[in-house]
Amino acid sequence: MTLSLPQELHVLQLPLRNTFRGIDTREVLVFRGVAGWSEFSPFTEYSDLESLTWLKAALEAAANPWPELFRNKIAINATLPVVAADAVPGILKRFNGCTTIKIKVDDFESGAERVAATLECIPDAKIRLDVNGGWDLATALSHTEKYFERFGEVFEYIEQPSQSLEVLRELHQRSPIKIAADESIRKHLGSDLAEIAECADIAILKWQPLGGFVQAHTIAKTIGLPVVISSALETGIGISHGLALAASFPELPYACGLGTTSLFLEDICGDQFTVNEGFLEVQSAEPMDLERFRAPTERQEWWQNRLMRIGELL
Ligand SMILES: [Mg+2]
Repeated sequence: MTLSLPQELHVLQLPLRNTFRGIDTREVLVFRGVAGWSEFSPFTEYSDLESLTWLKAALEAAANPWPELFRNKIAINATLPVVAADAVPGILKRFNGCTTIKIKVDDFESGAERVAATLECIPDAKIRLDVNGGWDLATALSHTEKYFERFGEVFEYIEQPSQSLEVLRELHQRSPIKIAADESIRKHLGSDLAEIAECADIAILKWQPLGGFVQAHTIAKTIGLPVVISSALETGIGISHGLALAASFPELPYACGLGTTSLFLEDICGDQFTVNEGFLEVQSAEPMDLERFRAPTERQEWWQNRLMRIGELL
């Protein structure tokens, strides 16, 4: 791959509606290549080496047209951050028509309250729990059982219940609920990804963190599990590439986690990627009025330096 760094950069700040991953403003760098808009947005605490994979995705999408697409709209899941149960109806309302709901959980009690509040709003909801690796084996076994006992068959899967692949492997054999691998895939990029298939039922793939379209397809093939395409809290630009990635898989049995622009107070593409009747259309991003989102000078310099440093690793 011959890659060159973009010349004209836009460093933007997008305020979030609720704190997510411990941040309330998302910072991103966006730019335009011959193939259209692209986004480079590893979270600010990520190392240069980890961010290099994101940069490869960003440059690939700026330079190359999308691969062959098999559909023009994608079923989307709603995403519930860690919020009080009384905030649940308001957030779900922003995911128009979504009946698959991904709920961020940690401890059982408050997680269960969010599940209950969700089922009150959408009685036939399919629920996914996302633990982001927070449980050890004992906690995972007991929480999984408690969730299943209390709510029964409403669960589609539990996403990344533990960081440890060994815990996932054990849980995969014993849990009454299916297991999805998310962070595990990213962390094992350099090693044997085929192992993931012994530890999970579903593979969560993300356009930027996995290094772009070609890489994501190679990874999917190696793992050999059904895939769900999810976002890394990107702007509409990153989401447009996530949607194209989802559309580029001939089989896509599950709703995808690409409705996340609603977590921003406002997206740079306006309502272009606002979920409608449970779906998002696969389309190129058309950002507007970037000036309004422009980051302060010192943050622009920070991102430019970051890009230069990481660019040297290419
Ligand atoms: Mg996840």
